[in-house]
Parts: sequence; structure tokens; C-alpha cells
Amino acid sequence: MKVNNPVIKDLLRHYRKISLLSKTKAVLDWDLNVNLPTKAAEGRSHQTAHLAELITDLWLDEKFRNQLDKASLLSSKASKEEQAIVRNLNFAGKYYFNVPKELIVEKEKVASAAFMAWKEAKEKNDFSIFLPHLKELIRLDQMIASHLKFDKNPYDALLDQFEPELTAEKAKIVFDAIKPDLIKLVKRIQKSKNYSSSSAFVDEQILYPKQEQELLLKSIMRRMGYDFAAGRVDVSPHPFTTTLDRHDVRITTMYIDNDFRTSYTSTMHETGHALYEQGINPEYSETPLEGGVSFGIHEALSRFWENMVGKNPAFISFMTPLFQSFYPEQLNALNEWELSRVVNLVKPSFVRIEADEVTYSLHIILRFEIENALFNNEIKPEDLPKVWREKSREYFGIEPKNDSEGVLQDVHWAYGAFGYFPAYALGNLYGAQFLRTMKKDIDFDAELNKGNLLPIKGWLDQNIHRHGSLYSPDELVKLVTGEKLNPKYFINYLTDKYTKLYEL
Ligand code: ZN
Repeated sequence: MKVNNPVIKDLLRHYRKISLLSKTKAVLDWDLNVNLPTKAAEGRSHQTAHLAELITDLWLDEKFRNQLDKASLLSSKASKEEQAIVRNLNFAGKYYFNVPKELIVEKEKVASAAFMAWKEAKEKNDFSIFLPHLKELIRLDQMIASHLKFDKNPYDALLDQFEPELTAEKAKIVFDAIKPDLIKLVKRIQKSKNYSSSSAFVDEQILYPKQEQELLLKSIMRRMGYDFAAGRVDVSPHPFTTTLDRHDVRITTMYIDNDFRTSYTSTMHETGHALYEQGINPEYSETPLEGGVSFGIHEALSRFWENMVGKNPAFISFMTPLFQSFYPEQLNALNEWELSRVVNLVKPSFVRIEADEVTYSLHIILRFEIENALFNNEIKPEDLPKVWREKSREYFGIEPKNDSEGVLQDVHWAYGAFGYFPAYALGNLYGAQFLRTMKKDIDFDAELNKGNLLPIKGWLDQNIHRHGSLYSPDELVKLVTGEKLNPKYFINYLTDKYTKLYEL
């Protein structure tokens, strides 16, 4: 990467320190999730808190901020890469620059107490234990939003933290466009004759040994083109991907004894994140152009591998003999279509993280509508359990038995992470639009049917991965597909797939 501007050269030198410290902190966080002895938790929290403070100080460095202000004025004459460096630094620094440090510290304190209260509330199925903490977190996030200065809707400030330039207005247009079709599709699947027959194939008594699951998923990762010399796979309770260096992108997975699907789908999901990070232009490493564009684009790629590849009937057809060689007694009785339906089982449930491809976006839309109403004072925190039940009935045709399965199910609000969910639903939509474009270059189903995943990785490397965060999400989607985000591709993709699968 060629940078001539001396001010930008200085910014790069300073950012490199932030990048190296952040990755050092990420090593400690990875270790915390994968290896940490129970007694070490307190010491580890001191270590990571100290690193977080050093990173904050680097962002608040006065000379750095002055140079960034200067560079922001120059940037219209600068190269594409130089402009992106300035844009990304301003975006990442916004929180540190505008929100008073006392407020950040206050929120961290309130959030750790809220997390404990949320755990207790969920265990005892008693929303009132969590309510006062939730109110306090909402109040603090409203203050944070006001410091981030958004004139139209305070919720925009929170959305933007997770997906640059996303606003409630934009999200609402997209979600309103897909909601009725999703609800209709769920109802059609529920009424189909194959709906109940697929459920019968899932037997909780059947066990899948961990060793076999591990061998199988490593062979799939190799097939996807994951570089094991530049990463590793371990086990953790919540699977995740972390970038510790451009040559060290690690994933974790989890094994469930009586369900082979969990490690299969979650490994393809996390490997999708990892291929993105491994495929970025090496020159961008340790600069503000490193890493993926946004949560939404990252989720687009991980969910692309999980759903559009891993659960594609053409790929399942290739995988059927493999699955059966690993799990002969468990799966020999199923043919490839039955196996496809087992992997793609649509089942309206109360729980987002267990949701299938069709109902998943409805779970997100429900949360988006509630958060948007909360931050615009259209509903009160005390009304949340009622609102949650009403929307569940409307979208899934079912109502959670209690608040633990309803409004208390996600941990995100207990961390004060409002505005986080919509990026996930956008990921589904971006993914379907990328797939449509990819199919013009690649005979997608034919390659999957032969188990050839490398042409797909190659296409993503060339069109998306290598750019790192050179473009904004909107620019990237336009560059790759020739048009801005268009939700109809996602609906077409789902309708097409599930009409065939369930013979609707
Ligand atoms: Zn993910």
C-alpha cells in the first residue's frame, strides 16, 4: 500500500500501536474462553482491563487527534486507501472522542451488575429482578447516544456503532419489505405434509461421538480452503472467531452429543468468518484497513457458508455418503433428501440462537422493533414482557411459556448492547445478493454437488475478502453486485429453496 502523505504516515504509525495492543488483548480473551483455570478469572480481568485502558489512552492521544483532524480536511485529494484510513479512524475513534470517559466507566459498572441480575432473573423466571438494571442501562445508552449526536433518532447512534451508516429508517424499509413474505412462508411450511415428517427424523436418543464430529469438521474446513498453518480450532461454550494476526485466525466450535448438526453448521459459520480474515490483502495488516468491513458483511459471509453452502441440498447430496461413513448406525437409514430436510428443519421456536434460516430474520425484526420503540419512548421497559409475547404470537404463531424463554432469553441487553441485532438480519440479505451475483460466474449447485468449495472461496477472495475495510458496507455491496441492497433476493432465495425442499 502506497501512502505519500506524511500526516497519514504518522497516523499509520500510531494506529499500529493500537492494533498490536488490541491483538495482544485478543490473545488473552481467546485464552479466557478456551483454557482459563477457574481461579484465574479475577487476575485475567485485571490484565485485560489494563490493556483496554492503554488502548483508550492511545485513541485519546492529543497529537494523534490533531493529526486526524488535519487529515480529515485533506482527504478529498487523497487516494482511495488514504481516504479509507481517515474514514475508518474517525469511525472507530468516534466513541472515544465524543463520549465522556466517566460515562463509559459508569456503563461498564452498571452492565456488570446488570449481567448478574439478568442471570438470576432468567433462572428464577422473574423479569422484575432485571427491570431496574435494564432501565438504568437504557438511560445511560440514551445519554451515550446524545453525545454521539444523531439528530433524527437516538437509536441511530446505537445502530451505527455496529453497522456504519445504518439508520432505523433504512432498517425499517428493508425489514418491512421482507416481514410479510417471511410470515407467509413459515405458515406454508408448517402446513406442508413434509413438515411433520422431517421433525420425526430428529431423535434425541441418538449419539454422535465427539471424535467423529471433530474429524468430519476438520475435513470440511480443509475443503473450504481454511489455512491450518495460519490458525487453529478449539472448543468453547459459545463458538467464535478471533484474529490474533494475519497469520493467526482462530475459530472455536462446540460439540453436542445428540446432534451432529450443531458442530457442522457452527464450524462452517465460524470458518466463513475466518476465511474472510485470512483472505484480506496482507498489506492492510496492522493498518486501519485490516479486518472485515462491518458486523453485517462479516455475518453475510459466515451465514453464506453456513446456510447457502452447508445447508444447500446439492452440497448435502455430496455430503450424504460422508456423513454416513462417519455416523453409519445413526444416519444410514436416511436418503439425501431426508438428510437435507433434517439439516434445514424449519421450526418456529422461541429461541433465536436455535432458529432456522427462515424464522431467524423474524427473531431479529422483533428485537429491532422493540429497541427502536424503547429508545423513542414509545414503550416503557416495564411493558417489555407483554410486547414480546404479542409480537411472538404475530410472527411465529406461538407464545413463549414464560419470560425466561421470551424477553429474558438474550444476554445482549444485559451488556447494554442495544442496536447489535439488526446487522445479523442484514447479513442474510447481503449474502443472498452476493450469491445471485456469484451464480453468474460459477455453476454454483454443480460445484457444490461435486464438493468443490475452492472456486467459491476464490470468488469471495477476489470480490470481497481482499478489500478488507477499504469500502463502506454500502459501497462494497454496490461494487460487488452492481446495485444497492435489495431485499427481494433474500426472499426469492428462501422461497425457491424451501418450496423445493418441502414440496410446497
Ligand atoms: Zn457470526
